[in-house]
Amino acid sequence: MTEPDPTSSLAEGDAPALPADPTDLDAVRGALIDWYEHDHREFPWRGTEDPYEILVSEVMSQQTQLDRVVPAWEAFVERWPTTADLAAADRSEVVAFWSGHSLGYNNRAKYLHEAATQVETEFDGSFPTDPEGLQELMGVGPYTANAVASFAFNAGDAVVDTNVKRVLHRAFAVPDDDAAFERVASLVMPEGESRLWNNAIMELGGVACGTRPRCDEAGCPWREWCHAYETGDFTAPDVPTQPSFEGSRRQFRGRIVRALSAHDELPLAELGPKIRVDYSSDGEYGHEWLKGILEDLADEELVCVERTDGGAVAKLRE
Ligand code: SF4
Repeated sequence: MTEPDPTSSLAEGDAPALPADPTDLDAVRGALIDWYEHDHREFPWRGTEDPYEILVSEVMSQQTQLDRVVPAWEAFVERWPTTADLAAADRSEVVAFWSGHSLGYNNRAKYLHEAATQVETEFDGSFPTDPEGLQELMGVGPYTANAVASFAFNAGDAVVDTNVKRVLHRAFAVPDDDAAFERVASLVMPEGESRLWNNAIMELGGVACGTRPRCDEAGCPWREWCHAYETGDFTAPDVPTQPSFEGSRRQFRGRIVRALSAHDELPLAELGPKIRVDYSSDGEYGHEWLKGILEDLADEELVCVERTDGGAVAKLRE
């Protein structure tokens, strides 16, 4: 099957730095899936394909941090294990549960109760399986419908939320434009893999490519293609100014070692711009800053720095 040209559907001038070579696009997909399958945060709703349980997790997560959602979700599905149980419950009990667990707007509890009633009365106890049908349920908008279709039925489209936008903007220089995000998100998602893919890319946005990126610490699988990683510009639609890094020194240590591994030796004046785009020899991130990191690496016997007539050069230790 011929892979579509990833940039063909973008308006001129919007073309992102997405690998145009289909082999690369396969590699991009494979790298993320391997990374996700190797290790990811375990949330109880990731172990179920029950649309009701997934809907409850999605509605709860809209306003509440995931760590806090876990006990609330477990208590909710234990108390009302099916749509039939929830539909039969008194609405005031559901609302009381909601506010008792600080889950945000009580209307969500009412909508969830109503949606369960709809499933029982209008859909014979079975959820619709596609995003369009799911949107007929009370309080279920396009995002939630797509999430449930993906995670319960593997029948969704590419999820585009704030995390995914941040990842796509940084990795492939997708402009801050909803239509462009939708197009590129769909293009990178492997056909028929919405469950796995949406989980994986959302995990990348949550664990590695957060507002403060942790590219090296989290072993981001897209570093070799990532536009932000290459240029050092980690701003994003929800991160308008350059974020500060936790562990940034570690990040640049990794980059130095990678840059040096591709060369016998590198003058510091050449190494600097290779590891950060805003390197300027006299600036805050300049010669002195670079020397400090190289000294640490030298103390650990990873790197050596030698003086030559043309200035200092760095190389990996044998
Ligand atoms: S390399 Fe860094 S900036 Fe790029 S996608 Fe990965 S975590 Fe995000």
